[in-house]
Amino acid sequence: MSLGAPVLRFAPSPNGRLHLGHAYSALLNADIADRMGGICRLRIEDIDPQRSKPALINAISEDLAWLGLHYPEPIRRQSDHMDAYRAARDGLIDRGLAYPCFCSRGQIRARVGEGGETACDPDGVPLYPGTCRSLNPAQVAERLAQGEPHTWRLDMATALRCAGSSHGYIAFDETGERWVDADPARWGDAVIARRDVPTSYHLAVVHDDAEEGITHVVRGRDLEAATDLHVLLQTLLGLPTPRYRHHPLLLDAAGEKLAKSRGSQSLADLRAGGITPAQIRAQLGFG
Ligand code: GLU
Repeated sequence: MSLGAPVLRFAPSPNGRLHLGHAYSALLNADIADRMGGICRLRIEDIDPQRSKPALINAISEDLAWLGLHYPEPIRRQSDHMDAYRAARDGLIDRGLAYPCFCSRGQIRARVGEGGETACDPDGVPLYPGTCRSLNPAQVAERLAQGEPHTWRLDMATALRCAGSSHGYIAFDETGERWVDADPARWGDAVIARRDVPTSYHLAVVHDDAEEGITHVVRGRDLEAATDLHVLLQTLLGLPTPRYRHHPLLLDAAGEKLAKSRGSQSLADLRAGGITPAQIRAQLGFG
């Protein structure tokens, strides 16, 4: 790899065995890195202490090695970097860009239900109605001091005032590059840090992409809308925005995204059934 060469990453979450959809994404990342004369790193996105299983981390490396994919060391594990995420979160809090939210999911649902028609974020989750945005600062301090469980939410209106209201990124594919306008406001006051860990997927991913010098992010279309929020966070945090490519998702016979919860066969199942890595590569168009 030469200086300034592209750096990509494959970033699975260890909450299930890898399936063909992961294999496609991993192979596409490796293929693009190869063609561009760059490298692809592996990142384990294990911020979720409930769902991330250490045994699955080994299984992921094993499945990828079986497919013929090998990654430069060190392999980043997000759970090792909670202090860095906490610092990024606290920076946003100190600048008045995030506020603590004490609402439970049930309270939010009830509150949202009161208003008639419900506006949702791109994941279909009702937009947060802003209940905790304007709580009395003294009461907030007391509730925090008492250790009341809370998430931290981005104050979207303030964030847009601070970062400017126009955002976008360069999308790339084999036909070239194009500018995509981003609309982070559609996420409303998004959660940037969960109750149990000092980050959310969104904050950790933009932090890590910058930390690892990722120049090209290649991931599934299910994360395309999240990129709108990511570019806003990058601006707020003074981080570079990589180029993005959001690839189509592999669907099952019912037209649903592959998922363990829907009984999609894992690579391990396929391997046990006698399929070879070469057959998988060929099936996914990398033969
Ligand atoms: N960890 C995420 C997943 O497994 C991918 C995140 C990303 O590529 O930005 O869906």
